[in-house]
Amino acid sequence: MLQTLTIALSKGRIFKETLPLLRHAGIEPVDDPDTSRKLILSTNQPNIKLVIVRASDVPTYVQYGGADIGVAGKDVLLEHGGAELYEPLDLKIARCRLMTAAPTGLAREAYTQRLGKRLRVATKYVYTTRDYFAREGVQVEIIKLYGSMELAPLVGMADCIVDVVDTGNTLRANGLEPVDKIADISSRLIVNKAAMKMKHQAVKQLIDALAAAVQ
Ligand code: AMP
Repeated sequence: MLQTLTIALSKGRIFKETLPLLRHAGIEPVDDPDTSRKLILSTNQPNIKLVIVRASDVPTYVQYGGADIGVAGKDVLLEHGGAELYEPLDLKIARCRLMTAAPTGLAREAYTQRLGKRLRVATKYVYTTRDYFAREGVQVEIIKLYGSMELAPLVGMADCIVDVVDTGNTLRANGLEPVDKIADISSRLIVNKAAMKMKHQAVKQLIDALAAAVQ
């Protein structure tokens, strides 16, 4: 009997860039998530369905078995912590860098001015940021935001930010520049640990097909 597989994806960049890899593995969604309001999408493979969730929820769905497999950015995985997940494959898509960024020309000052005070860092990556600055030996006060982190230094709310950077255009447009790289980011295939055991054949087949597509 065919083992069923549920794959969690997020809309936007990850969906668009995962689609050609899935197609290469013989999987085509029947509905388009950009036009459909459905959260569960059928595919041309009767045993494979896709669930569309927020990017930051993908690891949670896979961790709790709401999906067997998922595609998530390494930034999201670092922040999630990776409990109960395998990360067998780098899909090498949606590449960017997780960086600190500060007002142009003021990066080092922003860092050193605050010697003796805590550096105020605005970010949605609270755990990753805390961990990074702890390793750097810098005392920080983290200001949790859910988006538009670039605004925080402009309005004097933070000394710097931690965010993902691709071209750097968004930073530049807001008078900021990248300072230090925390991690190289790309999307990873993640697998629920129980599914890896219980649905080994179907999971292994998909990993192998996607690995070939990445090549
Ligand atoms: P940039 O090309 O640096 O101007 O990036 C524009 C915005 O897109 C950034 O502020 C990020 O929030 C977001 N971004 C860029 N690349 C990625 C990615 N691979 N994954 C998620 N968000 C991204």
